[in-house]
Formats: sequence, C-alpha cells, structure tokens
Amino acid sequence: MESFDDSEMVYCPYNKEHKMLRKKLQQHILKCRVLYKDTVELMVCPFNKGHLIPEPEFFQHTKSCEDRKIIVHYQNSAPAVLDEDTRHPKIESEENWDDDNVPDYDPQIYCATANIVREPNGLFPAQRKAFIKEENRRQLGEDYEEEEKKPPKAKFRGETRPAPYEPRRPYSRRQ
Ligand SMILES: [Zn+2]
Ligand SMILES: [Zn+2]
Repeated sequence: MESFDDSEMVYCPYNKEHKMLRKKLQQHILKCRVLYKDTVELMVCPFNKGHLIPEPEFFQHTKSCEDRKIIVHYQNSAPAVLDEDTRHPKIESEENWDDDNVPDYDPQIYCATANIVREPNGLFPAQRKAFIKEENRRQLGEDYEEEEKKPPKAKFRGETRPAPYEPRRPYSRRQ
C-alpha cells in the first residue's frame, strides 16, 4: 500500500471521509461542489460580494481570495504621496454653503428686486391695481409718475357736455 506523508494529505471540505493528496483537492472539490450544491449553504465572501462560496469552502476562500490580497495590499501600503500633478491650489469661493446666517430664499423678495416681469395673477381687483402701480414704479423707477398726480378725468366732466347716455345727477343742478 502506497504511503504518503500526512502533510500531503487533505480532507475534502464537503466530506471528511474524502481524503486525498493536496494536489488532487482542487479537482476533487469541483466534483463535490456539484454533488453537494443542494445541501450546503452559499456564503458571501467578505472581500467581494460577487463571490458566493459554499460554506465548506468558505474558510479556505477567505484566506485565498484574490480581493483579500488587494485589500491587504492597500492596508499595508503607505498612503499615496501627492505630487505636483495631483495637487491643486485651494479653491476660494465667495459662496459659503455652511453659513446659517444667510436668509432663506424668498421668491417674493427675489421677484421684487429682480428685473423680471410679474403677472398679477390671483389677486383681487384692488390688489391688482396696487400691484400694477407698484410694478410700474419698480420697472420705470423715478420716472414713473403716478396716475393720481395726473388731473382726474372727472374734473373735466362738468366743463364738457355730458354724454347723452349719462344721466344728470341732482347735485349737478346746484348753483
Ligand atoms: Zn469530496
Ligand atoms: Zn472572495
């Protein structure tokens, strides 16, 4: 009977009764992996979620996983040194996104100061009139002349002949 050094002998992770030479294990495992695929649990490799490892092989895999080697390599490497090509000057910005003292954006205030055309939608007639007046003042600035300063048309009404359809009022007869 052929005798081997025990250190050369390994057990199949799927079945301890399968004992073989270490160099035969990889080939053997392929068979047992298929044979036992319905009875063993698949585990996710901690180094790569894409590695689904049958539970019997899991421990061995965590020691030999390619991605473990990459991670261990970076863990043992010194941090990358920045050279002139990877450095850039500190970017100065007037915007400070962390400043809590900046007032919140108010669309009404923005519209009142920005040079845009507003529409008096959804206002009552009195509000609408005031809005248009304010809007004209805003857009025309100092040149804007309020309508109230112009002579009201009613002032001339008594000096001109009333339109035939306009009924005379009692007080217009006053002398
Ligand atoms: Zn086996
Ligand atoms: Zn892995």
